[in-house]
Amino acid sequence: MTDSGGRVALVTGAGNGIGRAIAEKLARQGYRVAVNDLRAEAAAEVVSGIEGAGGRATAAPGDVSEPDDVAGIVRSAEEVFGPIEVLVNNAGFLQQKPFVELTFEDFQRMVAVHLGGTFLCTSAVLPAMLERGSGVVINVASQLGQIGGVELSHYSAAKAGIIGLTKSIAREVSKGGVRVNAVAPGPINTELVLGLSEDWRNTKAAELPLGRFGEPEEVAETVAFLASDAASLYVGQTLGPNSGDVML
Ligand code: ADP
Repeated sequence: MTDSGGRVALVTGAGNGIGRAIAEKLARQGYRVAVNDLRAEAAAEVVSGIEGAGGRATAAPGDVSEPDDVAGIVRSAEEVFGPIEVLVNNAGFLQQKPFVELTFEDFQRMVAVHLGGTFLCTSAVLPAMLERGSGVVINVASQLGQIGGVELSHYSAAKAGIIGLTKSIAREVSKGGVRVNAVAPGPINTELVLGLSEDWRNTKAAELPLGRFGEPEEVAETVAFLASDAASLYVGQTLGPNSGDVML
């Protein structure tokens, strides 16, 4: 187990899937983890699981696309654990629709949660990180933000935006002691993917250089690395736990 020195992490959208795996991984490494999710019960359940395993966690529910909620999320996390030292912007959702059927409302909601949420949460914690001269921000993008996705134009655009935001903020704040990076997962065995037909999954897996999909825990490993001092030279990067699907 890597010792995080009990640093404080906030993981958004940590009530399920990849975010949950990230929160649990960081907790196992000794971080004190604020677990955000839109669904308060899901956040509470993850907190109980972490505490049951001997880790330290607190629930910080709320909608990352709402400025007032974000202020509350950060306040409730910091009241319990003190200043947030590691922020993982992960909250999001997937919606598949052909571009010609996509409404402007669909597009705006997608951008508001993924890109707006990343903006709001980062804005809420970055000034204090810069004042302290240290901090880490990790944004969960997707390989679809790098290569595009069929019937996923709004999702891909929002994820591409997250990669651009990551690089730009990293250029501005790295000298201030804050490292900002992204991860762009490829096909991962999330609930959604596991719900697709086995045929499709087998065909797609066979096309991957690695021959298999990733697990949420393997994405969490990449995030934990970026959060750690072992990643001291990584700035504005987008690491790709993607089974070799996209090689950049
Ligand atoms: P994945 O399978 O990619 O990990 P999930 O849909 O399982 O994605 O998990 C994403 C999490 O993000 C869900 O628990 C969901 O409730 C949460 N979430 C979605 N939108 C928001 C939001 N606006 N604010 C906070 N959390 C959100």
